Amino acid sequence: TITYDILIIGAGPIGLACGLEAQRAGLSYLIVEKGTLVNSLYNYPINMTFFSTSEKLEIGGIPFTSVHPKPNRMEAMEYYRRVADAKDLNVHLFEEVQQMDPQGDLYGINTNKGKYKARHVIIAVGFYGIPNMLHIPGEELPKVRHYYFDPHYYYRQKVVVVGANNSSADAALETWRKGADVTMVVRQQELGSIKYWTKPDLENRIKEGSIKCYFSSNLAEIREREVDVQTPEGKVTLENDFVLAMTGYQPDFGFLQKVGIYLSPDEKRYPQYDPETMETNLPNVYLAGVICGGMDTHVWFIENSREHAVKIVQHIVREQNVTQA
Ligand code: FAD
Repeated sequence: TITYDILIIGAGPIGLACGLEAQRAGLSYLIVEKGTLVNSLYNYPINMTFFSTSEKLEIGGIPFTSVHPKPNRMEAMEYYRRVADAKDLNVHLFEEVQQMDPQGDLYGINTNKGKYKARHVIIAVGFYGIPNMLHIPGEELPKVRHYYFDPHYYYRQKVVVVGANNSSADAALETWRKGADVTMVVRQQELGSIKYWTKPDLENRIKEGSIKCYFSSNLAEIREREVDVQTPEGKVTLENDFVLAMTGYQPDFGFLQKVGIYLSPDEKRYPQYDPETMETNLPNVYLAGVICGGMDTHVWFIENSREHAVKIVQHIVREQNVTQA
């Protein structure tokens, strides 16, 4: 079994940033990723544009140039692939970490493809793997989607979009522009957090009636050809072909608990870590990236969690110097 200084779980932007820092510090490391490189970004909507400018998505100080003010998904994938190649990052793809146990001063890490040992582990597993469910009858029907990809698919279809934030706004506007008949169902009284250049577009489509929107309403039941919406005026039944439930995603808390990370007992389920060092309740095990926010998945994103990589590797190097002194 190979022993690494650092084993990094997840090859999202932040896992890659951790790999770059480890490399810079001369530490041996391996990044293990269950899907493709930057798997979350790969699963984003095909036409998605970042809200960050390209320099804010850079990792390891490697320039990310884009002719657009905000890069899109394709450009970001191009960039992270290029970084992985240019720096010859040690990444295993399509390999899932399944278990991690302390073994003396080390951790033993089991994947579906092999076994490793590491002095330190960084958990950078993101949050895009598990959708927040609506918990209503009919949600299991195949016409219900928790990930939206390409608007063409919904041409001339009756689409209900659930949710009031960025991903709902993008899904509603894009599918409407490609010929879908779109109705939004919004739990709150008004639209939520939407990119400043998208919000007026959606507001105007709703005002002119091109996109219908039920505010203060909930989707109550989904059937093959219809849905029921609970509105302040009572129940409304709509003809329906597809439901896009853009209700957010949550971290894999089961995985965190299985490996022994403490979670707060409230509904936020904040994982325990020291914000100075990013070290968890398990010695030499660190958290990095969006996973740090628990259910508050909007708190950490690429531009403000890149620094976790630097903090963690600095802490590891400091500790090693203390031990060697
Ligand atoms: P992720 O990118 O989610 O990476 C985690 C990786 O871990 C995944 O590849 C996953 O497959 C892997 N993994 C999980 N479990 C295991 C396991 N057991 N074994 C091995 N691998 C595992 N942020 C910005 O800064 N700017 C933006 O403009 C922006 N726009 C966004 C737009 C959309 C539509 C969405 C959904 C998010 C956006 N974000 C943006 C947020 C940003 O994408 C995330 O914060 C970012 O991906 C977090 O990076 P991460 O490396 O922490 O997690």
